[in-house]
Amino acid sequence: MESLPHVFLVGRGAERFAREMGSAECDLLTPEAAQVWAGRLQAMMPEPAFRKLAELPDLWRWVELATDPELARGTVNFLVQDAQGDLCAGTSTSGWAWKYPGRLGDTPVIGAGLYADNRYGAVACTGMGEMAIRASTARSLVLYLKLGHPLAEAGRQAVHDLDDLGGRYRSRMNIVVLNRAGQHAGFSTDPGGNYLFMGDAMDEPVTVPRAHIPIAKRWGLQG
Ligand code: ASP
Repeated sequence: MESLPHVFLVGRGAERFAREMGSAECDLLTPEAAQVWAGRLQAMMPEPAFRKLAELPDLWRWVELATDPELARGTVNFLVQDAQGDLCAGTSTSGWAWKYPGRLGDTPVIGAGLYADNRYGAVACTGMGEMAIRASTARSLVLYLKLGHPLAEAGRQAVHDLDDLGGRYRSRMNIVVLNRAGQHAGFSTDPGGNYLFMGDAMDEPVTVPRAHIPIAKRWGLQG
């Protein structure tokens, strides 16, 4: 994006820009991924509905059944600080399968799935992107750092914001943070999570536990 005054391109414009920048076009869907995708839908839908998937007038009905965020994951977060102290946050593409066509997750949304402010810290999220979008989770955590909270408290505040969200869908969230001083932490609404940390004097990364901050989860049942 150093060639444009923009920070976000989507759809055909993004494809065009990639071509202009010399990127090769290819199909990113592997046969293995296609098989997993089809297998789950076939197990849940009657065969005629599965065959007509592209034309179904009520595809929305199937999304709640097929899209269980506890079953699909795959997004990866990276937080980096260079020798000058500059911070950077990166996220891989969304790992949420069986979503409704056109659904945009938090992963590419600056402020939701990732945020870096050289003055305070860098943050990235995995989990149910809708929650991170609604609460601006990555940006909020950086703002809590700016307000003077230590890492642990800033993380707790950001997760509490998620716990206060209304609505019928609330699932897991995982957050990592690296501050200007090089301190790092991870938080998860599920127990037993961890993340990898590697400093410049280290040969191997170490596994660091994430703080467990539970929230009340719900999935489509009420209302
Ligand atoms: N955050 C991603 C999304 O909502 C999913 C993930 O973390 O795997 O699209």
